[in-house]
Amino acid sequence: MRAVTWQGRHKISVETVPDPEIVNPRDIILKVTSTAICGSDLHLYDGYIPGMRAGDIVGHEFMGEVVETGAQSTLKKGQRVVIPFTISCGQCFFCEKQQYSACDNSNPSETRDASELLMGHAMGGAFGYAHLTGGYAGGQADYVRVPYSDVGPVIIPDDLPDDDVLFLSDILPTGWHAAVNADIEPGDTVAIWGCGPVGLFTIQSALLLGAGRVIAIDHFPARLALARGMGAEILDYTRVDVREALNEMTGGIGPDACIDCVGMESHGFTADNILDQVKAQFYSVTERPHALRQAILACRKGGRLSIPGVYGGFADKFPLGQLMEKGLTVKSGQTPVQKYTGELLKMIQDGKFDTTSLVSHHAPLEDAAEMYRHWHGEQNDYTKIILKPGLEKGAIQAKSEMENA
Ligand SMILES: [Zn+2]
Ligand SMILES: [Zn+2]
Repeated sequence: MRAVTWQGRHKISVETVPDPEIVNPRDIILKVTSTAICGSDLHLYDGYIPGMRAGDIVGHEFMGEVVETGAQSTLKKGQRVVIPFTISCGQCFFCEKQQYSACDNSNPSETRDASELLMGHAMGGAFGYAHLTGGYAGGQADYVRVPYSDVGPVIIPDDLPDDDVLFLSDILPTGWHAAVNADIEPGDTVAIWGCGPVGLFTIQSALLLGAGRVIAIDHFPARLALARGMGAEILDYTRVDVREALNEMTGGIGPDACIDCVGMESHGFTADNILDQVKAQFYSVTERPHALRQAILACRKGGRLSIPGVYGGFADKFPLGQLMEKGLTVKSGQTPVQKYTGELLKMIQDGKFDTTSLVSHHAPLEDAAEMYRHWHGEQNDYTKIILKPGLEKGAIQAKSEMENA
């Protein structure tokens, strides 16, 4: 089969690799029909995620058709399913508490020890995201093996097209979890750093959960326009002093909740940010937590901080004193996707979410290397890319062309 592989920093190639096989009775084999490139795939692309090996198959946002089932799978051949990026056994201490992303069984012993050394406890398993999280082959491929198929997959009704539901695999539940973690009270003002795909779903989720105002921060005009279209007030951080603006907009108090949808590769031109970038160039730090620092300083006293943005290790100049003195509550973590997929599928069917206007491109799997380059370098125009196995090389569709068609 054909698969998108990581070969080193800024090196992605599509290769012919062996087809996956059932190895456990709870497995299925999925024929992939749609798979998206995620913002967190950029951290792999840029070489900041430890534990990648040349040849690893990437991709953790995917859906498709069941083509083979293990003896204990509850799925049937021919069913359409979306697969959560978190791999969860459904039976351990953590899965029983619905903390699926912390599953203690899905990261096999060969790889869990290294993650335990780094994090203090072993990380849960995830698709296509390095050997610290199990080294599972990802879904940017013609086929993929899905373990624990009786726990994760979301069965999709025939009348819902792929584009409407694909994001149940990660970014929609992640945006929802980010807003849930902000403990939003009716009428709250919520500030959201980053209008990438997760940020855009966080905006929608915060409003659905009762926020009175959502203020979204970014600098890409197209992403800010999408945010505004979803109901947010917007701030371009290259044009205003964000903290000053947030203070003015909230009568000097600050937002009730602040959400960092940026993570480890924060852009910006302030002194702290430039220092982070220099250090990251030499790999003396992995984190560039500029957005997070700003969120802590901007948040109102006694406010709440939610961090869905991905971080991988130790952060420099973390404003710990400010966090403590202001009495902020912090919630974070990889999303327990399986906890939310049922209610979110229902909300998609009820038209509560706009799941498609952020999609800028559909492209063949074969053009993945080119698409990673665009996704990395042209974030204004490439807001979300969906790869389609089976499309012929070169058959790239941009949203602007689709709208004109
Ligand atoms: Zn993702
Ligand atoms: Zn588990």
